[in-house]
Amino acid sequence: MKIKVLGGGREVGRASYLVSTKQSNVLLDYGIKIEPYGIEYPQKPDVNLDAVILSHAHMDHSGLIPALFGGNNPDLYMTTPTLDICDILWKDAQKIARIEDRKPEYNKEQSKIADSKTKKMNYRKPIRITKDMSLTFYDAGHILGSGMPLLETKEGNVLYTGDFKVDETRLHYGADYDLDKDIDVLIIESTYGDRDHPDRTKIERDFVNSIKKTLDKGGSVLIPAFALGRAQEMLGIIAEENFNVPLYLDGMGQKVSAVYLQYPNYFKEAYNLRQAMNKTIKVKTQKQREELVKKQAIIVTTAGMVEGGPVLYYFKRLCRNAENSVYLTGFQVQETKGDILLKEGEIEIDGGLYKWEGEIKKFDFSAHAGRNNLFQVISAWNPELVVCVHGDETVMPAYVKKIEEDLGLKAIAPKNGDVIEYNKKK
Ligand SMILES: [Zn+2]
Ligand SMILES: [Zn+2]
Repeated sequence: MKIKVLGGGREVGRASYLVSTKQSNVLLDYGIKIEPYGIEYPQKPDVNLDAVILSHAHMDHSGLIPALFGGNNPDLYMTTPTLDICDILWKDAQKIARIEDRKPEYNKEQSKIADSKTKKMNYRKPIRITKDMSLTFYDAGHILGSGMPLLETKEGNVLYTGDFKVDETRLHYGADYDLDKDIDVLIIESTYGDRDHPDRTKIERDFVNSIKKTLDKGGSVLIPAFALGRAQEMLGIIAEENFNVPLYLDGMGQKVSAVYLQYPNYFKEAYNLRQAMNKTIKVKTQKQREELVKKQAIIVTTAGMVEGGPVLYYFKRLCRNAENSVYLTGFQVQETKGDILLKEGEIEIDGGLYKWEGEIKKFDFSAHAGRNNLFQVISAWNPELVVCVHGDETVMPAYVKKIEEDLGLKAIAPKNGDVIEYNKKK
């Protein structure tokens, strides 16, 4: 069996891995990497694909999937909610390309074919996908519909984690990792290969207390959050507190929240999210934005890394008042506006420099497994070969060495373009 790393080797983003046996070629994910200077793509698969498997809807895994269609049109496998979310994201990406006046990566026709070729999967229901492979999805506990695909073949079993979270969060129970299967090759995300997350309940408490403090002194709170997963989690936490200040949701999080509510069996406490959504005012127009910034408010909005979307308007309007706070709620890629804001306290918007006069804080709400959890699951799966992907160059060497030393397993951190050969021991 061969595994070719098309993207996501020693980097976070553009995940894509080609698994080839004697009889079939199957692609795991085909994502993009959004950099401050533009979009980066994975390498193109140089074979005819028999099947494509999508672990979850985030653009660094799904962003280029429709571009695979319009030719030989392989079957595409993902969970039902993943397809619903992808439809929103793919359409949005085409819109952004139009606004930015660049050629989109795929056309409407291609995303339509991708839709029609999709076989919707449930967790823990194996299905034969090629002559010599069967596929099972296990809940990854990362976002709505996220799965860890397991490929079973005569040449070995491959488990790909996609992005996963072991610990329980407000919206998810945590990864379903007790598989009862032999894993020969493990392809594992390694975003937090070098560190652990602080305790989730403590982060929530800090977050709530900080909001309270800001409101008490009469300020508003601006909360940039990823539309997919994070926005819903933030609304759940805030709505529960019954602050005496209106709570707004702006941006794509609105559409994604509606998808969440369609699949109450795919996450925890759907009732609570429904309650939270009932207490949330959805911002639909610019006029509404102009009105709401005049009063005290809590605003949850995209983009999570302050790179674009409605957050920029709010930032410009709220930054001058030292009573207002901005609270970042997730991973900030280097050199994004969110990252620059944390380091320098000011960002550039449309050519002007805007300094945030009030409090700026980041809360480590992560949907990824921390270092201890990574070691815990690798040890439980006990594979013959650990292929570490989806982690920064700076994290990987020490992480791989530690897996080899502490767990006694063979581990590698391939670069993009590398081909890994695996021969199953008889
Ligand atoms: Zn993800
Ligand atoms: Zn990812």
